[in-house]
Amino acid sequence: MLVSGKEKLERMRDGRVVYVGSEKVTDVTTHPAFRHAAQSVADLYDRKADPAKRDVFSYEENGEHFSIYWLRCRNRDDLARRTRGLKAIADGTYGLIGRTPDHVAGMVTGLAMKPEVLEELGAGRGRNLMAYYEYARKNDIYLAFACVPPTGIRSPDMFPGQERKDPTLRVVDEDADGVTISGMKMLATGAVFADEVWIGNLIPLDEKYKKEGITCAVPMNAPGVSLWARQSYEQPVRNEADYPLSYRFDETDSVLVCDRVKVPWERVFLHDNGAMSRTIYIKTPANCYANHQSNVRFWAKMGLVVGLASRICQANGVDRIPGVRETLGRLAALEATIGGLVQGQIEAWEAFPEGWACYNRRHMYAALNWCQEHHTEIIDTLRTLVGGAALQMPASIDVLADPALRERFGDWWATPSMEALKRMKLYKLVWDLIGSEFAGRHMLYEKFYAGNSIIVRNQSDREAPWDRFHGIVDDLLEGIEVPDYGAAEPGH
Ligand SMILES: Cc1cc2nc3c(=O)[nH]c(=O)nc-3n(C[C@H](O)[C@H](O)[C@H](O)COP(=O)(O)OP(=O)(O)OC[C@H]3O[C@@H](n4cnc5c(N)ncnc54)[C@H](O)[C@@H]3O)c2cc1C
Repeated sequence: MLVSGKEKLERMRDGRVVYVGSEKVTDVTTHPAFRHAAQSVADLYDRKADPAKRDVFSYEENGEHFSIYWLRCRNRDDLARRTRGLKAIADGTYGLIGRTPDHVAGMVTGLAMKPEVLEELGAGRGRNLMAYYEYARKNDIYLAFACVPPTGIRSPDMFPGQERKDPTLRVVDEDADGVTISGMKMLATGAVFADEVWIGNLIPLDEKYKKEGITCAVPMNAPGVSLWARQSYEQPVRNEADYPLSYRFDETDSVLVCDRVKVPWERVFLHDNGAMSRTIYIKTPANCYANHQSNVRFWAKMGLVVGLASRICQANGVDRIPGVRETLGRLAALEATIGGLVQGQIEAWEAFPEGWACYNRRHMYAALNWCQEHHTEIIDTLRTLVGGAALQMPASIDVLADPALRERFGDWWATPSMEALKRMKLYKLVWDLIGSEFAGRHMLYEKFYAGNSIIVRNQSDREAPWDRFHGIVDDLLEGIEVPDYGAAEPGH
């Protein structure tokens, strides 16, 4: 089933509770903090449901069409096809919405390629996961996730003697029908627009906190669930042309708060297990499928960055200066690098788990690390190219409402290469990527969406073939000739 944009908007009006400060919002599709981003999500669903684009955005199984991101790949061609769909989705928002529906769906799809991992940890849990996978793809469910305990109380052992109430989400009760969960979890990006939220753990958890290991899915409108949203960047914008990205693509980050939320057993996938609550994503393609989407999204964003950099240089009249061309060439090379890192994951695909196909995990983690390391520098390069021009633009496009100001603006703000209004639109756009609050949030997002750098690099450390690397060194050492002076003895 492929849901239309209209149906998607309808689903967002399900009685969910979202707090913007003290204000309780019950319809995100009309509220000024969320309505345009909600429409961007709906537009994505319309593109996906378009019969003319079926081969890009969906696949068929037993006569039914499902969104492409639910595809469990069997071979290289499946992976390439899946990635093509992810790229089309990411291009639709210029890579500026990180948690489009394909991200968490990738995680669930990866789990559904090896449900035995869950089944071994609790009878029936693997079966629950498969039933959920079928339900989610059949109903084109948009899942967000909240998988990190709140900052500041993650290591209570570090503060001996300082007892404090720990609000980390955990199981507080259970009975024949299911578990009851209470507490908070961060940081559910996109959740205000999603249908359900996946609760779990993406950072290692000590076994003694096993009640926090709970891994389950909860509808956004479940009794006791609320989302505490950060400040909206869309809300203060009066004209789209002033902050065009904040206006349309603020996906919103929220803290998930659960107050005695009942979760039926059918929606519980892991219970009473701290140590394995992160490992399940690594022993299956879940982590790889989800983060491959992040790599593809970054690639889409790079297209926007490079195009903007070039247009800005044209507008500034510096695009033919050799030193500037070198910088543009470097940015273009970086865009091609991430493209290559994405394609490489397909070409070097792995038969993992048996019978299925996974993107090359080492290449995927390398790309994740590359993006995390380079985003700040890339945006700073763009900022440097822009110079002060963005701040020469009037505060708002409404300057055009005054005939005298409009005339002066049209005459004096134009350059030989560009008329005034076009310049203003361009500089307002680039400011939203390098200087606005929306831009600042993106700087943070690209640093942390997959965990801090320690977590991200740990993935590459874990997957590295250290035996092979050691073998290279050991073979080389073996071949080095040493004159026969006799064996070195300890103590001499
Ligand atoms: C915009 C945004 C969107 C997000 N969206 C989601 C989402 O949709 N779902 C979700 O589950 N999570 C999401 N996250 C949360 C994200 O997973 C966490 O922010 C991330 O795991 C990092 O945790 P933290 O912010 O508490 O930083 P920390 O882990 O506390 O790290 C902050 C800094 O502390 C230092 N540090 C921490 N630990 C160590 C150590 N052991 N050794 C040395 N230095 C250390 C490092 O300098 C590190 O950069 C999002 C985060 C952001 C910023």
